[in-house]
Amino acid sequence: MSERIGVVGAGILGLAVARELARSRGAEVTVLDKEPGIAVHQTGRNSGVVHAGIYYPPGSLKARLCREGVGLLREYCAEHALPYDEVGKLVIAANRGERAALRGLAERARANGVPDVAEVDALGLREIEPHAVGVGAVHSPHTAIADFAAVARRLAADVTELGGSVKLRHPVTALRESGDTVRVLAGGERFAFDRLVSCAGLGTDAVARMAGRAGDVRIVPFRGEYFALAGAAKSLVRGLIYPVPDPRYPFLGVHLTRRIDGEVLVGPNAVMALAYEGYSWRRIRPDDLRRILTFPGTARLAAGHWRTGVREVYGSLAKRAFLAAARRYVPELTGGDLVRTSGGVRAQAVRRDGSLVDDFVIDVHSRVVLIRNAPSPAATSSLAIARHIAKVVP
Ligand SMILES: Cc1cc2nc3c(=O)[nH]c(=O)nc-3n(C[C@H](O)[C@H](O)[C@H](O)COP(=O)(O)OP(=O)(O)OC[C@H]3O[C@@H](n4cnc5c(N)ncnc54)[C@H](O)[C@@H]3O)c2cc1C
Repeated sequence: MSERIGVVGAGILGLAVARELARSRGAEVTVLDKEPGIAVHQTGRNSGVVHAGIYYPPGSLKARLCREGVGLLREYCAEHALPYDEVGKLVIAANRGERAALRGLAERARANGVPDVAEVDALGLREIEPHAVGVGAVHSPHTAIADFAAVARRLAADVTELGGSVKLRHPVTALRESGDTVRVLAGGERFAFDRLVSCAGLGTDAVARMAGRAGDVRIVPFRGEYFALAGAAKSLVRGLIYPVPDPRYPFLGVHLTRRIDGEVLVGPNAVMALAYEGYSWRRIRPDDLRRILTFPGTARLAAGHWRTGVREVYGSLAKRAFLAAARRYVPELTGGDLVRTSGGVRAQAVRRDGSLVDDFVIDVHSRVVLIRNAPSPAATSSLAIARHIAKVVP
């Protein structure tokens, strides 16, 4: 009898993992998701950037799996006629103070194997993005955009073609390891698996608790809000325009992103959400909030970064702040060019001491594997993360 593997989550990671386990191990896979559709959470609510691997510490899982993931994703999109466009990216220094950081970024990118990275000056960056300003930039011509939700839907079709099943409207509400079996209750149905892999994003802590493996890190939800450029303003941005990132945070700062559907996004910021799926200020869930606030890491994080927190909250409430962030790089933009659009919530792991976990974290136990931290660039890296997991699942 073939190995039975359950996967929690029909986001890009769960589906990539299920496909890989079915392909490489011949496993009989069952993907369980609580939602009525695929890619409802992070996978369907992000910037859509196929990151090239510029930022991540060389040797980290992020650096390695991002580079491997880009190659696999490009091939996968070509094979299945899914959109993939190398629009290129500029990381722009707005002033001399930021310029010093560009050299370090370019060196890191080269160490990670990002191809054709170049440093350009103020004139050079205008040749690439004629409406952008800055004192210099790092240019990554192969940074691309893709439609991660479309990739996830295709992966789900692969899972089914490989004999697996994707069961929507199946919230996992209980699980128990007994002997050689992992017993799972989902959507009122009982399942028995030989192994279980959790790729539950914002639901990670709940699944970890059910598995009796709460662990030392917790998910803190960080909402990322966006505006979209209206009408003719879209033509002011050709590709991807990013600020020099603040090294204290894993978030990349408000950027301008051309999307595969032709829209141009401005965002995302990063505000702590008041529910795991807190897509707006109005969405408050007392149970979630209690869990988030009683974790000691949350208070320590807030105490250490309250200034940034206040700034981000202001940015969330005031369009002016978004406009100012965008105008730093594209000064022709005006208030009328920005229209609020929907955002996403990042599942970001935080340690008890309040530090943000930077790298991907995959917790391997004998029968249960838990992805504990898979923020950006996990969508880019999904096919490589899946290969990695197929190797480490006992
Ligand atoms: C604002 C924002 C911008 C981003 N930009 C980028 C980018 O440009 N490039 C990039 O590479 N990455 C980006 N990311 C990160 C990327 O979107 C995520 O890393 C990736 O989508 C994670 O995929 P996932 O499958 O783990 O999570 P998700 O897509 O969130 O999927 C998790 C699934 O688990 C399900 N689930 C949870 N609990 C249960 C349960 N108990 N029972 C059943 N099902 C359950 C949920 O319904 C959900 O469908 C961004 C993220 C955000 C939020």
